[in-house]
Amino acid sequence: MTNSSKDNQNLKIGVLGSGQLGQMMCLEALPLGYDFFCYSPDKDSPSEKAGAVATVGFYEDLASLKIFLSKIDVLSFEFENIPKSTLEYLESQTKQIQIFPPPKALVIAQDRYLEKTHFRKLGFRTASFFHLTENTSKIEINIPYPWIIKTLRFGYDGKGQVKVNDVSEYKNFLDRAFASGNEEYLVEEVIPFQKEISIILTRFQNGEIVCYGAVENEHKNHILDLSIYPARIPTGLNLEATEMACKLAESLDYVGTMGVEFFLKENHIYLNEFAPRPHNTGHFTQDCQSFSQFHLHVSAISGNLPPTDVRPKPTLMKNILGNEYKESLVIARSLLKDDRYQLHLYGKKDAKIGRKMGHINFKGNLEEVNPRFHDL
Ligand code: ATP
Ligand code: MG
Repeated sequence: MTNSSKDNQNLKIGVLGSGQLGQMMCLEALPLGYDFFCYSPDKDSPSEKAGAVATVGFYEDLASLKIFLSKIDVLSFEFENIPKSTLEYLESQTKQIQIFPPPKALVIAQDRYLEKTHFRKLGFRTASFFHLTENTSKIEINIPYPWIIKTLRFGYDGKGQVKVNDVSEYKNFLDRAFASGNEEYLVEEVIPFQKEISIILTRFQNGEIVCYGAVENEHKNHILDLSIYPARIPTGLNLEATEMACKLAESLDYVGTMGVEFFLKENHIYLNEFAPRPHNTGHFTQDCQSFSQFHLHVSAISGNLPPTDVRPKPTLMKNILGNEYKESLVIARSLLKDDRYQLHLYGKKDAKIGRKMGHINFKGNLEEVNPRFHDL
């Protein structure tokens, strides 16, 4: 348990978004004695199931949002794709209500061009990139093929991404790219990386940062499949990635938990993107025998001091998707006979293909895990 400041005993925490990340924040906030509220357009959400007091409303509905803000002491996010006009409104409210992380962190995170430009300003290595709009589509792009073209906003789990191998494929892409005229994209050089890693950190209101070092991530069909903590990478690279993530958090006056994704190629670190919220690759922290990323997030936004004793242990995390969900649950439940496995289901009704339904953590390393874990 973190230290509590005097005046946050009955804090009312509000979160925009009501999915599984809000659910897991709520499950940390309630035992700390805080009230938890969520706001999103969805009914019967995972956050509500965990005990959050839900307001159903659109993110664009500022009148409804204003009433929501009047019920809470601090606002946070579990979802970064909040409309920019709403973020501007929230920015104008920061004298009346505490908002963590700052809305400007979401403005940057939700626009891949602003995001990569910010990384470059901080001196970080990224894939070469180009902001493609209907107006810039006539300009020659000075990036060697192959490329990944990503929609500028609202992408997740690799959605809205196309690989383009040569100029004829690019021309084909352009034929369809501007159907409505206002589409925007980021063209990126493909980095033939050896590994993907991420850093999960929590920055507290006094500027101190808690970070457990890098976690290694494997994707299947562009969706996170497996996280291995700690990442099996040289200590120097781990420190370098940690320092980059800390510098990024400081540059944004960040408060709360964030996830920062990197590619490793021949001892070089490329910064890919960050998420201004707890992150899927940080779910291992729930069972790493130290503080979870959700606990640390709730603690930081509530004004508590950072913990001083953190001793995370090796942990694996495997996502459970909607594909073959029933079969996955049979395997997952069979693993629960061993106390090193912990199942986390989100209570979602429809098991659609590619939908994140839950995850399972294993308190141990890859050599010790039951082979059935990989069949999930
Ligand atoms: P997510 O929500 O899973 O984080 P996203 O849709 O926001 O994904 P990215 O994280 O940028 O988008 O890309 C998804 C995955 O595609 C990456 O984890 C990586 O495996 C691959 N990828 C993205 N950009 C590149 C690149 N420039 N070079 C090589 N692979 C890439
Ligand atoms: Mg990503």
